[in-house]
Amino acid sequence: MTLPIDVAGRLADVPAEIDAWALALTTELEERGENLTNGSPADSDSRFAYERMGDAGIIGLGWPTELGGREMDPIDVVKMEERLGYHWLPLCGYLLSVKTIGNAVLQFGTHDLISRFIPDVAVGRIMFCQGFSEPEAGSDLASLRTKATKDGDRWIVNGTKIWTSSAEIADWMYIAVRTDPTLPRHKGLSVMLLDMHAPGVEVDVHETLGGGTFGEVRLSDVAVDVNNVLGDVNGGWKVLLGSLDYERVTSEKVGVALWVVDQLDEVAAPHHRRLLLALRGELEACRRLGHEATRLIAQGERVSRVSSTCKLSVSLAMQKAAALSVEILGPGALVERGPDARAAGRLAAFHRASASMTLAGGSCDIQRKVIAQQGLGLPR
Ligand SMILES: Cc1cc2nc3c(=O)[nH]c(=O)nc-3n(C[C@H](O)[C@H](O)[C@H](O)COP(=O)(O)OP(=O)(O)OC[C@H]3O[C@@H](n4cnc5c(N)ncnc54)[C@H](O)[C@@H]3O)c2cc1C
Repeated sequence: MTLPIDVAGRLADVPAEIDAWALALTTELEERGENLTNGSPADSDSRFAYERMGDAGIIGLGWPTELGGREMDPIDVVKMEERLGYHWLPLCGYLLSVKTIGNAVLQFGTHDLISRFIPDVAVGRIMFCQGFSEPEAGSDLASLRTKATKDGDRWIVNGTKIWTSSAEIADWMYIAVRTDPTLPRHKGLSVMLLDMHAPGVEVDVHETLGGGTFGEVRLSDVAVDVNNVLGDVNGGWKVLLGSLDYERVTSEKVGVALWVVDQLDEVAAPHHRRLLLALRGELEACRRLGHEATRLIAQGERVSRVSSTCKLSVSLAMQKAAALSVEILGPGALVERGPDARAAGRLAAFHRASASMTLAGGSCDIQRKVIAQQGLGLPR
């Protein structure tokens, strides 16, 4: 696909070509029998969709050209992501591999790691999953127990990760592990890249209310090359927080929520239109928060207060959109299959899965905690 990107890396507006490409891909996915509502909105899994994005050259658009990118302005990349979300593309692989982990590899990785991974991500050949959460460590991530023990030029990893999106189709896991249990909780952690096809990796797949799947990943004596550590050994907390900032700019979900508002606008009575208009205003504020967070990240500034505000606001706006769909359409909004299903069941799927947004990437309570402490300077 040829995108009208000028020499300064600016994309004037999201071009109609993107809309046409996204619509063609969703049709192709449906013809292949892939379910576009198999997870939280804009977060469903499809290795095929990810590879198609690689073929079309829209992965890593903001990355350097020598690594397979197009050096596009980061805010324009976010605008594209909003648009891809609007079209309900299954973006889980992209969001993890490119937006979150790919960007973290570029920020914290050695030259060797960058050249080994980024060009293959840019063409959709390498897909990552993210191994943070554990049975006893979700919000309180610093309490994670998966441990890595040094053995010559390898780390040997043992433990269990849960709620791992895309675990069953990913090639590599971006994993947080405890490398020094004698240090204070936040200080003994490291982040490394673990081969999902290595001996000792076992994945059990569990279905979710949202229609998607989570992996439970058991790791028994899995070897990781010492060169696969991102950032400093025992300095993983900084890496992990950095990638959470990328993850929490959830602009693609703004796109999905805008699509819902557009659907409801077509059938809403005047008094409901006013509510939809107010929600559009909130979503525009969410968009701008996403752009502001992206601008600050590009300038290398601390951004957690803004990315957490973006994540929290988008999650709450999605709950409002889901509630409004039922208020406007009545119980019919919840019909997912058959002739009465609205928008091929997508509205019902949106309602069913949107609650997961209040947890994924850190719960709303945790975002409020970050905003209170880092944004408002309140005590712990
Ligand atoms: C769709 C989806 C995709 C996900 N994908 C991944 C993935 O790919 N990789 C991965 O590692 N994880 C993933 N997760 C897991 C997600 O990161 C965790 O669910 C989240 O961090 C919350 O952790 P928990 O589920 O253990 O809940 P808990 O931490 O047990 O929290 C339970 C409740 O207590 C509240 N709470 C906890 N601590 C505090 C506090 N200090 N102050 C106030 N309230 C608090 C929480 O807000 C929540 O309401 C995913 C989750 C979802 C829903």
